[in-house]
Amino acid sequence: MPREETRTALVRRARKIDRVLGETYPDAKCELDFDNPFELLVVTVLSAQTTDKRVNAVRPTLFAAYPDATAMAAADRDHLEKIVGPLGFFRAKTDALLKLSAALVERHGGDVPPRLKDLVELPGVGRKTANVVLGNAFGLPGITVDTHFGRLARRFGWTAQTDPVKAEHEVGALFPKRDWTLLSHHLIWHGRRVCHATKPACGACTVARWCPAYGAGPTDPVTAAKLVRTEGRA
Ligand code: SF4
Repeated sequence: MPREETRTALVRRARKIDRVLGETYPDAKCELDFDNPFELLVVTVLSAQTTDKRVNAVRPTLFAAYPDATAMAAADRDHLEKIVGPLGFFRAKTDALLKLSAALVERHGGDVPPRLKDLVELPGVGRKTANVVLGNAFGLPGITVDTHFGRLARRFGWTAQTDPVKAEHEVGALFPKRDWTLLSHHLIWHGRRVCHATKPACGACTVARWCPAYGAGPTDPVTAAKLVRTEGRA
């Protein structure tokens, strides 16, 4: 935090923040519902530009109709568009699901590959989505640099990078690999609930003591408490 902070002090402070966020959000996990890697891949793609709550609401109908990549690749476009309609951008999203499931069938026999390099080669799958799937469906450590993660990591002084891949590497180097997935959830949960892009609730923040950006939002506890979102993104 201070400009003279040593590497050791930075690592210690970063891990302290993660520990406290873990105590603050003991239930932190992926907020998208899923039963298997295919479902998580699909719902993560669908969650762009909408809320997890909305995606969770269409999920039962979607997977009852198209439970796997083979079924989805052969889906009737109009029917699929109707199901994903409530999420907005329904044409683009339908297109993404059809291409993604066709590629899974053609390249991986309908399975979701458990490797970053294979995942990012699938149409519509970026590094962020790939890390969500690796970390949450396969139990392989992954850092998910979404907008919340990037903003908080910069506010914490863990990185100055705005490029997600660079930020991922710099932040990853501060933590043991085994902590990466939960760390991602902690930052995303805190970003959704307390440390908002505009008006972070600094006066109601459990990690304020270790945060160099303390004061970026209201520090008065009563004012700050009103800014806290208890439902997260939902
Ligand atoms: S002190 Fe403020 S800026 Fe820092 S993490 Fe907490 S809410 Fe965010």
